[in-house]
Amino acid sequence: MTDSNSSNQGFVRRDGELFCEGLSLADIAKSTNMPAYVYSKALITRNFLASADALKAVPHLVCYAMKANSTAGVLQTLARLGAGADTVSGGEIARALKAGFPANKIVYSGVGKTPAEIAFALKKGIACFNVESEPELELINAIATENGLRAPISIRCNPNVDAKTHPYISTGLKNNKFGIPIERVEALYLRAANMPGIEVKGIDAHIGSQITEISPYLDSVTKLLDVMMSLREKGLEFHHLDIGGGLGIRYREEDTPPTPKELLWAVRDLMTERGFEKTALFVEPGRSIVGNAGVMLTKVLFVKKGEARDFCIVDGAMTDLIRPALYEAWMGIEPVIERHDVKPLLMDVVGPVCESSDFLGRARELAVVPGDVLAVMDAGAYGSSMASRYNSRLLPMEYLVDGNRLIPLRRPDTFEAMVDGELLID
Ligand SMILES: *Cc1c(COP(=O)(O)O)cnc(C)c1O
Repeated sequence: MTDSNSSNQGFVRRDGELFCEGLSLADIAKSTNMPAYVYSKALITRNFLASADALKAVPHLVCYAMKANSTAGVLQTLARLGAGADTVSGGEIARALKAGFPANKIVYSGVGKTPAEIAFALKKGIACFNVESEPELELINAIATENGLRAPISIRCNPNVDAKTHPYISTGLKNNKFGIPIERVEALYLRAANMPGIEVKGIDAHIGSQITEISPYLDSVTKLLDVMMSLREKGLEFHHLDIGGGLGIRYREEDTPPTPKELLWAVRDLMTERGFEKTALFVEPGRSIVGNAGVMLTKVLFVKKGEARDFCIVDGAMTDLIRPALYEAWMGIEPVIERHDVKPLLMDVVGPVCESSDFLGRARELAVVPGDVLAVMDAGAYGSSMASRYNSRLLPMEYLVDGNRLIPLRRPDTFEAMVDGELLID
């Protein structure tokens, strides 16, 4: 899907040629190691503001879920816009701080926080630990008490709602490892309120990813509000309600997610109805901020005729972009320059990695010859942040486009860098 509703924002096709803001993707491809990610600063900005502006009249914090794309330059862009960060490891907290997110805008989720990570986050003064189990709460209390501190916490509830998304990215169902069953949450808050190292700040849930309907969110928020009502009667008030992330984007024509404003206003209405209009609303969007703001450029190496099907072999692989292999995700694949001098062929677009799951797209009609450049669309989220060096492949290049400016976000990876951390035996 190309975004063509605004001339110089994001990815636009002009005379058959795909541009990112003011720059031709074909020109970028000529000047760089491939494959390469290219992000639009204007789109990242617009996507962040879609949530932040929708909430500007009420207390809120938009915490960018940085696992979606944790490249320093992307983080800096969002930190400068005033975003908070949703993190899931000590490494992400360190990255967030380095990129300029203030500690008091960082929330920390994750089912397996280690003692070292908890101590690190606590000493940095993060805004909130999103606690995912009873033993985790006790550990945080113990570490905080030991250090003479009080840890701000929220309990991540598992509301047992169906987010109606792929099972691998569904996180709010009973059988998921995430959060604490909603039935146990109230009793745990009452215990938490009496723990010396704990300061109860919020309540949260995160029910999954690539959610394209509002109703699962409202089901989840309704259950959280029930808990908040009941605890209010017992004298426990919350500073914030955090609805998690998960808002979907339009990978295909038929994906029709609500806008952030539609979602957030519906949630605010529900909060107001129940008497929680003074409670801050936190949201943790990842995909909906960076997803459509990036493409991955990859070059066609060979067109290979098979027995049962034909293959378009490209230099980008599952190691650069694992979503198709991992979640069977469908991603748009478009030539950066349309060509009309060869017949389109139905092909699987596959990478060089020695795995049959190494594909970027299946059964795509493409008119290409070796040397042509393809753009894998909507690749800004869960792309580069999931890249690996499996098969001893170099990490993909990454760029930010700001108008007519091409800003490299990393040094080209090298064979030396690849083995830099390894030690040889005698
Ligand atoms: C992954 C994650 C998010 C972001 O999900 P998106 O689908 O990218 O918006 C938010 N919160 C938590 C706790 C997560 O694990």
